[in-house]
Amino acid sequence: MEPFLQQLTDLIQTEPTLAKWIVVPSLAVGHNIAERLVSEGIAWGNLRFTTVLDLAVRVAGPELARAGKTLLDPAVGPALTLELLLDLPTTLPAYFRAIAEQPGVAEALWSTVSELRLAGVGVGVLHPERFASAAKAKELAALLQAYELYLGEHSLADAANCLRTASAANSKFPITADGLLLEMPGSCNSSVERAFLDSLPACRIPAHVAAVAGLPLPAGLARLNGKVQPVEPMDASSDATRLAWIARPAEAPPPVQDGSLSLFRAAGREAEVEEVLRRIQAGSLPLGSVEVICAQPAEYASLFWEKAVRHGLAVTIDRGIPGTLTRPVRAAFGLCDWIENNFPAVRLARMLEAGILEPGSGAELTGSAAARILRQCGATLGRNSYATTLAAFAASCEARTADLEIDEDIRISFGQRAARARQLGEWLTSVFDKVPAPSGGTVMLGNLLDALDAVLNEAASVGGPEDAAAKMAVSAALQCLDPLRELRRPLGFHLALIRPQLESVVVAAGRPSPEALHVSSLGSPSFAGRPQTFVIGLEEGAVFPAGLEDPVLLDDERRAIAPELLAVSQDRTSDSVYRGIAHLASLRGNVTLSYSCRDLRQGRECYPSWLFFQAHQLLQPGTALTHSALVDWLGDPVTLVSPAPVATLSDAGWWLSGLRGAGTTAMPLVSRAFPGIARGISAEVQRQTAEFTEYDGLVPAAGHDLDPRRADQVVSASRLESFASCPFRFFLERGLGLDPIKDEEPDPDTWLDPPTRGTVLHDIYSVFLRRLRAEKRRPKAGDWGTLYEIARQELDRRRDEVPPPSEAVYTAENEQFERDLHLFLELEIARKDVVPVAIEVPFGFEEAETEEPLSQAEAVRIDIGSGEIRLRGRIDRIDRLADGSFEVVDYKTGGRWDQFDGTFSGGRLLQHALYAAAARELLRSAQKNPRVRLSSYYFCTERGWGDWVSKPGDLDVKPVLQDIAEAITSGAFIRGRDEAGCRFCDYRRACAESDVEQAETKRAALIAIERLAAHE
Ligand code: SF4
Repeated sequence: MEPFLQQLTDLIQTEPTLAKWIVVPSLAVGHNIAERLVSEGIAWGNLRFTTVLDLAVRVAGPELARAGKTLLDPAVGPALTLELLLDLPTTLPAYFRAIAEQPGVAEALWSTVSELRLAGVGVGVLHPERFASAAKAKELAALLQAYELYLGEHSLADAANCLRTASAANSKFPITADGLLLEMPGSCNSSVERAFLDSLPACRIPAHVAAVAGLPLPAGLARLNGKVQPVEPMDASSDATRLAWIARPAEAPPPVQDGSLSLFRAAGREAEVEEVLRRIQAGSLPLGSVEVICAQPAEYASLFWEKAVRHGLAVTIDRGIPGTLTRPVRAAFGLCDWIENNFPAVRLARMLEAGILEPGSGAELTGSAAARILRQCGATLGRNSYATTLAAFAASCEARTADLEIDEDIRISFGQRAARARQLGEWLTSVFDKVPAPSGGTVMLGNLLDALDAVLNEAASVGGPEDAAAKMAVSAALQCLDPLRELRRPLGFHLALIRPQLESVVVAAGRPSPEALHVSSLGSPSFAGRPQTFVIGLEEGAVFPAGLEDPVLLDDERRAIAPELLAVSQDRTSDSVYRGIAHLASLRGNVTLSYSCRDLRQGRECYPSWLFFQAHQLLQPGTALTHSALVDWLGDPVTLVSPAPVATLSDAGWWLSGLRGAGTTAMPLVSRAFPGIARGISAEVQRQTAEFTEYDGLVPAAGHDLDPRRADQVVSASRLESFASCPFRFFLERGLGLDPIKDEEPDPDTWLDPPTRGTVLHDIYSVFLRRLRAEKRRPKAGDWGTLYEIARQELDRRRDEVPPPSEAVYTAENEQFERDLHLFLELEIARKDVVPVAIEVPFGFEEAETEEPLSQAEAVRIDIGSGEIRLRGRIDRIDRLADGSFEVVDYKTGGRWDQFDGTFSGGRLLQHALYAAAARELLRSAQKNPRVRLSSYYFCTERGWGDWVSKPGDLDVKPVLQDIAEAITSGAFIRGRDEAGCRFCDYRRACAESDVEQAETKRAALIAIERLAAHE
């Protein structure tokens, strides 16, 4: 038994009737000790476990109540400190205020203010000459003063107030002079706490601690803590108890080689955790007999929790796991980001897909369905973009439900999609109603807190007890900021206050339980008394603090202000080393130490801590103190793959272990057990052959379905061009109906993406030209005002739907629009001899455009020799030329590419020819034998330099269309050869580079595809 517990046991027996006050670092440690005593069969009546502060609250309670004071919740400390800092007079020099919104500043300042208060350091000693910067001294002194004033004005007592009041109290009830007081080392951490403990009337007893060779209590700990008595003689009965000599292995008695102390190294942290679990399984150890002490709890505790969940093991973790591993905390962080970045749809979709937010409980609208709708509806960012785009999406889905040419089950699915889109819209409206919109650039903190709390309460997913606990903890963490709810600041400022509150959420913290493996932290003994202990994570540079100086008060400043009262970085390191070594020295039973020799995330080698070297020296006295001697003795590191199948923890582990060294001979067995892997290998092998196979895009059945000559098919020019550009993409898009996932973050430097920009310009051109057509005239320079007004209305409307990321971006894009429209007007004025007879004229969309006489509901039929195709489209313009012939005009609002130089560019450039044919057909309704002389691409923006690319209007496109139809019908959907196309292709995740290269070797066999490429 540990000396401190033995001391308690003795006290219980020698002083059964006296009240024995045991001061412990936390109430959890007190509970652990009490349970341990019970489990050892010791009745512990009259032991009263308490912390210093708890005791002070009990002593000072009556006095504080008389004075009408309540306790300050320390969770509000960082936010309060920041608020007080920003409210300091502007005449004071700004030191921390200059970086106030940086992450961590509020917490660091709060920590310093608390430390100064608990050390008993007042404003009076913060002289500028004691600081590296006079500005810092003045600001810090003012902050401390403001804090003390705030406490007074609001009748609040912080820990220091409470301890001082308790020290000064005449009655120290419940502590009485006839009671005993025993302080566990590490329970007192400040001068004010020390003064309170010293003021208590009880009889003090020195605490018994395990003696550790060559390791005296550090000066800081010795000063603050009560008397301790190292217990001699030191126990050398087993190799594990000889850890008491770990600081001086050369002085240790010879090892007894009883196997109670062992060491191993692992290739990665996960492998280290897996090996601990394998050893527990191999030794048939009850989980309740094992404690795992983490030298790096932040890294390992979560890993243990994840493994335990995966393998269904019972585990308790003293510090719990970070809330960031739970859905509600991730949702809370996600919402903060979403709000701060002006509600980008892609981020909301990611949250919904990740299953951390559920829009509407019990509804048909799952998170993934909502995410799909968001990605399809075209919402971008900004509050206003959702309602419009979702309503339009729902309306278009509803329209499809009435289309009797679509299969019934597909129509039903469109109906469901429409209902979900409307439901999502309603949910988002309720969310936006809650989230405060900035007024004058600021919002009230309380409104933002209420919004986050309400949205998380309604929509944060809960998948287990940890999520449920996290949901409540998030709500409580937000409530901690309630005292500041009237604060009005910009959104970003408030979110910077909220995020640390969310980071502080910890869940699943648990004390040792008889049925569960217990995970604890090095330096904080749990007193679980387990016979099997693993100490993991003993890596060089990661076990003890790096000795960095405090970011607010530097070591020299601390020495100058109050050398006796303020700890410097060296003190913190010494304390940590002492606590860690004393913890190791207290271990009994079987102990295993380990470290990870690879950091797999950073791909670097890691080395053992000096503690590990010293443990090796304890087991192998006299061996060289070198890394090579140590690793030679340790042997190969353990890996995630178990050395023997029998020792594995899961099916996957069993397979991996069994396959070790088997090579390809194991493939028949693997294939039989995992048909999916077998199919994948077969696909890969066939792709590597010269033959064009189903794994390269050979799908004859789809060829028939996608034949553009079918009577039920209405095709567009871009659809045919897209086949010629990449048959494989055509198949993914048209054959399989795959929608690429749009997951790009909105570009902070762009308002409208190129397609939207193009649509906006098309709309402006058409309104402008129709107005002139009604006036039967061509444009003149004085029309700039009209054009500008049309543009203004259109851009304002767009701005309501899609808010720009910033005013600067909006202004820049507006200026570009103005330049482009000026150029357009100039070009149109120069083109004075033409008459636009059709503007934005649609055909083949089942409904004609009433404003355009040439528009027709029916598709235009085009004979291609081996049948006919039904074409639909929208011609930007048909101009009557001076000689009475016509020119088809297609606006291009981007740059000019090489493919515009060819006649058909291998089938990738067809629109001019197809629209010329369509225009001839449309014009026949108004004129006999119309002659379409030209079909042109009009690069009418600055990006296209006002260029024109004109083609004859009577080109014979039949052979190209025949080859396209034949290639589609053959079902040969091979990957395209246009590398530039791949770079910008939305489906590029479906195509490995090697697949695209391999397609080149197979193309020669596909005659129609090769013929198509020849149509230059
Ligand atoms: S990545 Fe290239 S080969 Fe693949 S679908 Fe896109 S364009 Fe075709």
